[in-house]
Amino acid sequence: MTILNRFCPEMSDIMAIRLECGTCDAAISYLPDSWNTAATLKCPNCAVELVSPSLQTKGSIALRELAESLKLLRNTPNLGFRLRLEFDSPNR
Ligand SMILES: [Zn+2]
Repeated sequence: MTILNRFCPEMSDIMAIRLECGTCDAAISYLPDSWNTAATLKCPNCAVELVSPSLQTKGSIALRELAESLKLLRNTPNLGFRLRLEFDSPNR
């Protein structure tokens, strides 16, 4: 018999979206419901541009779409489903 320990947070459990700079590893966190995805985000340490509406890279587009999707999933009642992410238990 196998016992699985899983951590299954739902969207409302997400406290922040954390971005880590690919250049200097500095981190900055945003509240998921108030993150302005139309703004240009620069690293607070080395000032490299992390996300911008003018950047049309796959990563930048996906990040903006993820942020907008999180807002919708967190704030729309009665979607007809409940989305949870599944992770191995942090106590493993
Ligand atoms: Zn940086």
